[in-house]
Amino acid sequence: MDYQKFLSTRSKARTPSAIRALMPYLKQKDMLSLGAGQPNPETFPYASMSVTLKSGETINFDNELFQRSLSYDLTTGLPQLNEWLRELQVTEHAPPCKEFDLAIGSGSQDLLTKAIEMFAEPGSAILVEEPTYTGVLSFLKSQPVDLVPVDTDAKGINPEKLDQILTNWPNSNPTGKKVQPRPQVLYTIPVGGNPTGVSSTLERKKKTYEICQKHDIVIIEDDPYYYLQFNTPRTPSYFSMDVDGRVLRMDSMSKILSSGIRIGWVSGPKVFIERMNMHTMSTNLQPAGIPQLMAYGLLAEWGHDGFLRHVDQVANFYRERRDVFAEALERNLKGLAEWVVPDSGMFVWIRLLGGITDSNELILQKAVKNNVLAVPGTVFMPLNNKTPCVRVSYSCIETDQMDEALRRLATVISEESNS
Ligand code: PMP
Repeated sequence: MDYQKFLSTRSKARTPSAIRALMPYLKQKDMLSLGAGQPNPETFPYASMSVTLKSGETINFDNELFQRSLSYDLTTGLPQLNEWLRELQVTEHAPPCKEFDLAIGSGSQDLLTKAIEMFAEPGSAILVEEPTYTGVLSFLKSQPVDLVPVDTDAKGINPEKLDQILTNWPNSNPTGKKVQPRPQVLYTIPVGGNPTGVSSTLERKKKTYEICQKHDIVIIEDDPYYYLQFNTPRTPSYFSMDVDGRVLRMDSMSKILSSGIRIGWVSGPKVFIERMNMHTMSTNLQPAGIPQLMAYGLLAEWGHDGFLRHVDQVANFYRERRDVFAEALERNLKGLAEWVVPDSGMFVWIRLLGGITDSNELILQKAVKNNVLAVPGTVFMPLNNKTPCVRVSYSCIETDQMDEALRRLATVISEESNS
């Protein structure tokens, strides 16, 4: 692959931090360093760290690693954690491109914004699913790029529509005006979509990958709900079918260990990860040390098998909630809305019926007044279109309050459709 053509001018201009570039040499045997601008950790007041798990078990963190994690460290994250995650990627996804690199970030949001900036050449266009994650949309909308929505349905992204957009992209303009270059990047949430809860089927994923090969598109696979799939075996990722090295995969600990721990990781082509590292070197320098140690201490103790057992328990937790919520939806919203019961994640995307074309006011004014919160669909629309859809989540509401919440929502929907 010719990776250079995907990089924005801004990303190409990023150079390594001269000081950070010396860091790997610090660990070299026999090196005497007069170069470090590091504070001396002896002055730090923290002596040791341990955490107690809900299982009752206590993890005492290795003291050397603890001291290390109090100091500045590598841009790509704590090497032990980086290696653990790399092995996880290999065992879980068996990526055909063995040469992939991996970097840890402060949540996947940190890495997503860096990836987007790497590709966002002024005047270019980026393909995004419609609807899509509002947290990424708000960053994309601050970038000098246009967004090109790709349709999704109950089976996920629609590859035929993607192909149509790219095939019909104008090569020339009859008026002689410069045409916008064809998009080179697709941002997709393949599992438990935020906001739709829908996952792209394996067939759709394969087809989408083929279309991306045909048009030479790079895929940003944003997959924080990957381990929250309710059916086994998990549907393979784009990363697992990436024979070309065109997938930049984002993972996150937010839904499986802790969201406040702020740990995400990106896996993909070396050139892209290197550019993102340059970005980190000049912004937040590295992911925070203590959260990485907190994650690593536990993960090393669990091993990959223990981790996979844990994520199965998390997926089961959400599957049980999904089941209760699906029944409550049937009881309360039948005839007032339509939805697809999700097979992963924590969201349901409901389409309000009764001639409602825009859910914004209904959700932000009337539902709030009736003491029920949901998110109006328009915030997930790349071009801010009005939509009768609403995102509701079953992740945190008590199961015995689901009926009441949906009953309150039903009241405002029926009042609106009768008015
Ligand atoms: N992508 C998607 C689709 C998300 O739903 C979220 C979290 N809401 C993120 C990325 C950001 O996750 P993190 O906490 O890892 O930054």
